[in-house]
Amino acid sequence: ITNLSKTYKSAGKTLSVLDDINFNIETGSANAIVGPSGSGKTTLLGLCAGLDRATLGSVVLNGVNLNNLSEDKRAQVRNQFVGFIFQNFQLLPTLTALENVMVPLELRGEKNIRARALDLLDKVGLASRGHHYPTQLSGGEQQRVSIARAFSNAPKILFADEPTGNLDAETGEKVQKLLFDLNKDAGTTLILVTHDLELAGKTQRILRIKGGKLVADEKTAIAQ
Ligand code: ATP
Repeated sequence: ITNLSKTYKSAGKTLSVLDDINFNIETGSANAIVGPSGSGKTTLLGLCAGLDRATLGSVVLNGVNLNNLSEDKRAQVRNQFVGFIFQNFQLLPTLTALENVMVPLELRGEKNIRARALDLLDKVGLASRGHHYPTQLSGGEQQRVSIARAFSNAPKILFADEPTGNLDAETGEKVQKLLFDLNKDAGTTLILVTHDLELAGKTQRILRIKGGKLVADEKTAIAQ
């Protein structure tokens, strides 16, 4: 991430949300982004994942500058390398839990997608809920479906925006385990946005954002 800035224009006003952010994420590492509400964490995560484009600067993922790519090309890169767990899940409401998990597999033209999606739902403890629509699932269950979907393309890098924010302690622990297992077993690079400093402390590095600026970049005890 080099000289990354983002401004939003709304109602004739320009709002600077991120200002000249620089960092480099090591492949296979687990990292947390923390900071006050409204400081720009979700915006930063979205730019890193190629969901949106920066106003200035570059985001290089796997050697490709996402900021130079069209939305279509960025979508291709996302399908190939990126998993994203959204703060508000963003499940497709007209598809069942199973079908939601099947979407990335379908987009990649893979085979046996129903069986593989079912296996992923099983991993998050929801095999019996595959036929339920998002509105028929609790917040925590929707979160777990979104995690299964994010895992489905075996991402090289997984972004998670408040992955445990909506969950009770027990489910939160299970979700944390899923994320860190993926990091350890598959070598998936992990970037989490969280308000939970205990969770942040389980990663190797904490990036602190305040007022759109990177104000601290520290290794945790785990990395020492
Ligand atoms: P939280 O911890 O509450 O989720 P955050 O640190 O993730 O907050 P962002 O969601 O990145 O913060 O928002 C940063 C700022 O950018 C906020 O002031 C928000 O209102 C503004 N913002 C975000 N998206 C847009 C948009 N599409 N248009 C205009 N302003 C936006």
